[in-house]
Amino acid sequence: MGYIVAKFGGWANASAENVKLAADLFEKNHDRKIKVNSAIGKVEGLPKVTDLLTEGAEVTLKTGVFPEDILEKIKLNHYAVFKPLGVPEDVIDGVLKLLEDRLPMKDSLSPDHFRALIIGSGEELFSRLDTYYLKEIRKLKARYVDPREIGHYLGGNPLDGHILPESYNNLSRLKDMDGIIVYPGFFAISNRGEPMIYSRGGTDKTAADIAAAIDATLYENWKDVDGIYCADPRIVKNPELMAEVTYKEIRELSYISFNVLHQEAMLPVMNAGIPVNIKNLLKPDSRGTLIVHDREHIENRPVIGIAGLKGICVINIEKRMMNEEIGFAEKVMALFRENRISIEQIATSIDTIAILAKESDFKEKSIHFGISESVRKEIDFEEFIDYLKHQLNADKVKISRNRSLMCVVGQGMRKSVGTLGRIATSLSNAGINIEIVDQGPSERNVILCFKDEEDYSKSKKAVEVLYEEFFQN
Ligand code: ASP
Repeated sequence: MGYIVAKFGGWANASAENVKLAADLFEKNHDRKIKVNSAIGKVEGLPKVTDLLTEGAEVTLKTGVFPEDILEKIKLNHYAVFKPLGVPEDVIDGVLKLLEDRLPMKDSLSPDHFRALIIGSGEELFSRLDTYYLKEIRKLKARYVDPREIGHYLGGNPLDGHILPESYNNLSRLKDMDGIIVYPGFFAISNRGEPMIYSRGGTDKTAADIAAAIDATLYENWKDVDGIYCADPRIVKNPELMAEVTYKEIRELSYISFNVLHQEAMLPVMNAGIPVNIKNLLKPDSRGTLIVHDREHIENRPVIGIAGLKGICVINIEKRMMNEEIGFAEKVMALFRENRISIEQIATSIDTIAILAKESDFKEKSIHFGISESVRKEIDFEEFIDYLKHQLNADKVKISRNRSLMCVVGQGMRKSVGTLGRIATSLSNAGINIEIVDQGPSERNVILCFKDEEDYSKSKKAVEVLYEEFFQN
């Protein structure tokens, strides 16, 4: 017997039909062992439950009262999903009362732990009602397991927790429990018993951590898309679906905007070698995309995916004899770190270092330090340049804005000659002037930087021509 961990996100949990489809999956295949749930996503006309809870927690911290209208919307969300499934209103009300019962805990918890408690409640409310539906209405053997009881410990920031090693052993007990385990994603506790959550979208991480803990045969992630496309379907009409892709290829693509799974969710499954299947809940019999450790090389297919990232700026720092100055690059990086600007890419020549960063990183930014949060003010580009010039004693510092990055990924590139040439020719034929090229040491990706137009038409064009070159020729 295999053990499948199946994760259902906000969309999958936002309608009675979807919740029913998910139950069908467990009825059909008994290898599906653990159902990891997000909170209810967007139900028509209503915000996501997690967003409502986030707002409600903030107001409660300020005024001491959880707003009635938010409570009402949360109720409507749950009614909309569970009433059509036959879950009685008093059962729904009973479960929702859990939230109200928690509000007095504001006085005994730190603000961030209180936020974690409230924000993470959506997963519990949904999962408890889902368990009721599976057991009482579908007559399946199912049980709710609470992360606090099983010892799912997170450390670090209460709003961006990371699993503690002892949790894996505790979570491995899920394997020996009978029936379908309904497990709420996103929230857990610290080893001192305080409420904790993973960062937003963290149910992917809960499911990945459980998959690693029980050594699952498969991690299924049920979505509203057919799988992972080789290029953005908003740019390329009917792009191909990836049948199989490796963890490392996905990592390269997610580095530059491919949001398939929460970035950190890949790590535990990758380390344990557990395949991840991205599937469409509305087409359960289609194969979806399988993310695996290794895949067969497909002849004449060096590339598996093309992704782009807009709104990049390039900061060029010139200093004579830079390469003689030990620790110069470190000094540059420290200045970026101190200003909380994350470096996307670095390119160097003998006396120049170019740092690629997101323009949005210069805007006002909230930063977490441990459990407190501070806000870094907007950074003016020109002032930052003067600052760098002065701090580094550089000859020249220049910033070029409105750049875009294009990332071409495929493990087949290692085996085929001339891929870089094909990329360069396609872009040059499209009138795109490449300013920086970086072929990663893994030879699995090529990143290109070029000047874009205000309407980003160049990056759109780049995706189109590269898709044509590598997938339609
Ligand atoms: N409900 C949480 C969020 O919206 C966690 C998740 O959905 O994964 O971020």
